[in-house]
Amino acid sequence: MEGRAPEYLHKFVAETEWYTDIVLSPLVPDSWRAPLPHWAQTWLRNYIGGVLVYFLSGFLWCFYIYYWKRNVYVPKDEIPSKKAMLLQIKVAMKAMPWYSALPTISEYMVENGWTQCYSSIREVGWPMYTVYLVIYLGLCEFGIYWMHRELHDIKPLYKLLHATHHIYNKQNTLSPFAGLAFHPLDGILQAVPHVICLFLVPTHFTTHIILLFCEAVWTANIHDCIHGKLWPVMGAGYHTIHHTTYRHNYGHYTIWADWMFGTLRDPEEESKKGI
Ligand SMILES: [Zn+2]
Ligand SMILES: [Zn+2]
Repeated sequence: MEGRAPEYLHKFVAETEWYTDIVLSPLVPDSWRAPLPHWAQTWLRNYIGGVLVYFLSGFLWCFYIYYWKRNVYVPKDEIPSKKAMLLQIKVAMKAMPWYSALPTISEYMVENGWTQCYSSIREVGWPMYTVYLVIYLGLCEFGIYWMHRELHDIKPLYKLLHATHHIYNKQNTLSPFAGLAFHPLDGILQAVPHVICLFLVPTHFTTHIILLFCEAVWTANIHDCIHGKLWPVMGAGYHTIHHTTYRHNYGHYTIWADWMFGTLRDPEEESKKGI
């Protein structure tokens, strides 16, 4: 990898400015944007981008599962009420300005050369890129599992932060909009492992951004109560159990961490037992 010379770091700044242009150019007049410092433009892009991804993925998914494929994936009497969804949207919207601060800070750290990020896959080659990515994802699985589990186990943290997300404890109150309905600090804490990885593992910056984006879509997806049955993916079937027992399936993309630390509950076996 090249050093962390200012010319090298400039590649990151060019990339983040490009993202900012994509999101803000069509929506915010240049004359409003220009006086804002770089970090404020980054935050504004994250905020607007976050709101758009949240609503677009939420509405499309709701339309598909509750309207277009009515009764196929979700029985009619288990469709969440409008009121429940609006409440989730309200909680998520309150938290969004704070969530947006996390990638703003992490980008600042990347642009200033504090992390192990690299700019182009060519610098390390595809084999090492893959190795680093697997380590990154493994650390995230581990980190997010424990962050989530501690948010349950440490009672004051649960009461103060995580309980906000757990008021949705029945199938018919969970919806894709619950995906970002957290206390702001709770949502940030659960995303922090992504940022910690930047310091521990050489990470391709663009891939990191894509992974954060996937995170937002994924979290909507696991709250739709539709069990995907795609081993070893920890989909909504597992996460619905998390919302009803509070003590299982803390994990992230895969069942790996729950399996390893003994908190896994398989939705298939649950339904066999008739629970
Ligand atoms: Zn939880
Ligand atoms: Zn949840």
